[in-house]
Amino acid sequence: MTKPNPMPVEASVEERWTPYRHPQPKDSPPELIVPNVIPTDERVWVPVDDNVWFRPLLFCVTRGYWMNLLKVRRAGVLSRHRHPLPVHGYVLKGKWRYLEHDWVATEGSYVYEAPGETHTLVVDPDVEEMITMFQVNGAMIYVDPDGKCLGYDDVFTRIDKCRAHYASNGLGAEYADQFIR
Ligand code: FE
Repeated sequence: MTKPNPMPVEASVEERWTPYRHPQPKDSPPELIVPNVIPTDERVWVPVDDNVWFRPLLFCVTRGYWMNLLKVRRAGVLSRHRHPLPVHGYVLKGKWRYLEHDWVATEGSYVYEAPGETHTLVVDPDVEEMITMFQVNGAMIYVDPDGKCLGYDDVFTRIDKCRAHYASNGLGAEYADQFIR
């Protein structure tokens, strides 16, 4: 069996260092680089509850998902919610857990949340601050303990919340637009 080789061995050094020579597809959206994922400007954090904030990284309006950091600076029950689509998480700081499971998402952990899951996010009193990056697909559907719908968030409500917050704190509503693809 021959090993796959992405670059012919005979390619010259010049060719290896030659960028792709053609335009990107015209319908492909521009790439996005967000420096300081944990922002140096505190105004970038959008409050959603007492001592709970999110920091937008990407609002994908054509596929209905968003990337953000969630930051919590208090112990307590944050939200009970159902996911129609999968969620991916990476814990940057602190730890948290779901009342429905016996695992704890600790600093450095990757978390996969399955479609159909309903769970209740809690932060325990020994945690000073937790920050987790989440990719949330579709929606967060907020529910009571019996699954009755109390509300939702999707990429569009998240954009609205960002715009309202940035309009009020001097960054300007349009600060949210840089994250939209
Ligand atoms: Fe969740």
